Amino acid sequence: MESLSEILGKQLKDNQWGPRYQKLIAAAEQDPDVTEFLRQHQTELTKEDIIRSASKLYEFVNFKKKLAAGGKTFMPGYYPYLTLSNHHIEVTYTPTKEYLTQKKAQEVKNRVKIISLPKSIRHAQLADYDPEGREEIFDAALRFFQEFQKNPHEFHKGLYLEGSFGVGKTYLLGALANALAEKGYSTTLVHFPSFAVKMKSSISSNSTGELIESIKKAQILMLDDIGADQMSSWFRDDVLGVILQYRMQEELPTFFSSNLSLRQLEDEYLTVNSRGEAEPLKAKRIMERIRFLADDYHVVGRNRRN
Ligand code: ADP
Ligand code: MG
Repeated sequence: MESLSEILGKQLKDNQWGPRYQKLIAAAEQDPDVTEFLRQHQTELTKEDIIRSASKLYEFVNFKKKLAAGGKTFMPGYYPYLTLSNHHIEVTYTPTKEYLTQKKAQEVKNRVKIISLPKSIRHAQLADYDPEGREEIFDAALRFFQEFQKNPHEFHKGLYLEGSFGVGKTYLLGALANALAEKGYSTTLVHFPSFAVKMKSSISSNSTGELIESIKKAQILMLDDIGADQMSSWFRDDVLGVILQYRMQEELPTFFSSNLSLRQLEDEYLTVNSRGEAEPLKAKRIMERIRFLADDYHVVGRNRRN
């Protein structure tokens, strides 16, 4: 078999292709993939075919060179292959295994939207969850996980996790969200007191409506640490009330975690507004929605912080 430079040599001179191109043709000749490809297809490829496809060999070798040097290619994550199609050499790009794995991990990650919670929650896993003493809530979380997947378009009640500081409420919510993301479902997990602060500051920028929209429409919503701040009437009725009303109407899964029991949430958080006035009826309306959306569980156990 004639060598590539022999085949292309005359052509190169005739066309006065640049020295850079000539170098690449020389490199193509050295490339084991190119030589193997030409060897495999020597009966199908004429000299003219190879001359016509020189630019493709150039593209192939150049791309591989960039990859080997760790440079950015025009198709990141893809690897080139030579193929033959009707006497033309073509370069086909296929995603690498690492790229596909990485892409899938990114997609899973994107399904969990975390608002104002520590990044570490991204690593929470149901498999790592230590259920000791907390079998009941762990079972409830697993039940939701299974039932929801069987019928994601039907209404499934979420959980209201009540328990003291550090018993692992946020951890369990995060682990559940990550597990659901693996199965293709999206969760928004919000640190509720920080969300309240964000909402207040959004008034001046007129983005309140937008913020509420993005939260209320989440496929699965988890409101973490509800009751940890002080509630204003506006926030209770026009923000929390609106979100819960929507989720009730649309029957969207909603979770809560709190240091307060449902009774305490009603009396200590929702009833008294920031001006110190009692608004028990307004509080009752919110409570109805919470009870509709979630089953109440008491999380016990030791403080796991540190
Ligand atoms: P809470 O939200 O109830 O205040 P966290 O979920 O923040 O508690 O948990 C407190 C700490 O304990 C965190 O650092 C968390 O990662 C860890 N943790 C909680 N539950 C578990 C568990 N079941 N297995 C392993 N680590 C846990
Ligand atoms: Mg927490």
